[in-house]
Amino acid sequence: MKPRPFTYLAPTSVDEALAALAEHSFDAKVLAGGQSLAPLLNFRMASPEYLIDINDVAGLDRVRRVDGGWHIPALVRQRTVERSPELRAAFPLLPAALEQVAHPQIRNRGTVCGSLAHADPAAELPTVMTALDATMRVASVRGEREVPAEEFFQFHFTTSLEDDELLVGVTVDDLPPATSTGFAEFAPRHGDFALAAVAGVVTRASDGAVGAVRLVASGVAARPQRLTAAEKVLLGQRPTPDVVGAAERAARGEVDPTGDIHASADYRRHLVGVLARRVLTTIAEEGDHA
Ligand SMILES: Cc1cc2nc3c(=O)[nH]c(=O)nc-3n(C[C@H](O)[C@H](O)[C@H](O)COP(=O)(O)OP(=O)(O)OC[C@H]3O[C@@H](n4cnc5c(N)ncnc54)[C@H](O)[C@@H]3O)c2cc1C
Repeated sequence: MKPRPFTYLAPTSVDEALAALAEHSFDAKVLAGGQSLAPLLNFRMASPEYLIDINDVAGLDRVRRVDGGWHIPALVRQRTVERSPELRAAFPLLPAALEQVAHPQIRNRGTVCGSLAHADPAAELPTVMTALDATMRVASVRGEREVPAEEFFQFHFTTSLEDDELLVGVTVDDLPPATSTGFAEFAPRHGDFALAAVAGVVTRASDGAVGAVRLVASGVAARPQRLTAAEKVLLGQRPTPDVVGAAERAARGEVDPTGDIHASADYRRHLVGVLARRVLTTIAEEGDHA
């Protein structure tokens, strides 16, 4: 199938893009990499009157260092982040997850922010950005605002973006010293959307105990889910196999997935426990050798 006819707009600055969004917000879609939107248009699951292509907008395609972190603007491709030596060093979680997103051809076009704005509950990047406690930079003609990842993702394919708002970028703060990260997912075939995934960020205190932890799962709820019961088990403890086992059981107990044609609810619950254990075991080993 082919899309319904639409009016194509190609702003060349953020201000022009925001003005177009303000004027047509009632029936417009932003086009970034097109890797999710183009199929939706072709299948007529989305039929906007206006398509606002941001690919010619200047200044949105380079990752940059900001005070205490890194900023990834709206046109930075997933593959650019995956291959950036600076980002690989600062946030190993990003390439670990990105390598499992679709295929290189799709990551060459798909943007990090496009995946975040799309908010597929099975996608890797929303889960990872929630684990990294990233901040979304959102703009409209009404001004700019910052939204923590945990508040940004609201429901299946639904974020806190208003119709006239653009996600101009995402900022990730540097991780504290003695922090280890891990990512694990299970997908039927490499490149498929995962049935479930877990991302973890753990900071150890000087005695080796867990001082701070963020453990986030996808595939088990309508948005990335913090595994707060498992986090509580870990806090203040050294991540020994017994503690990791207790966190695994807590993770399994706190998720309430629904079954579908791909996997039953019980299987997804089991997966989250297994994936949490894998992530925590990797993190524990890395921390013990640091
Ligand atoms: C075969 C295939 C397999 C895939 N497998 C995976 C996978 O395993 N895991 C995974 O996570 N993803 C997967 N994807 C999706 C892929 O990662 C997309 O690239 C990504 O979800 C969307 O990024 P994009 O830049 O292409 O956005 P687009 O397709 O251009 O846009 C997606 C949505 O976000 C909105 N949008 C985009 N940018 C902005 C912005 N800056 N501000 C406001 N709204 C915006 C658009 O209006 C649209 O609603 C797959 C895609 C394909 C085609």
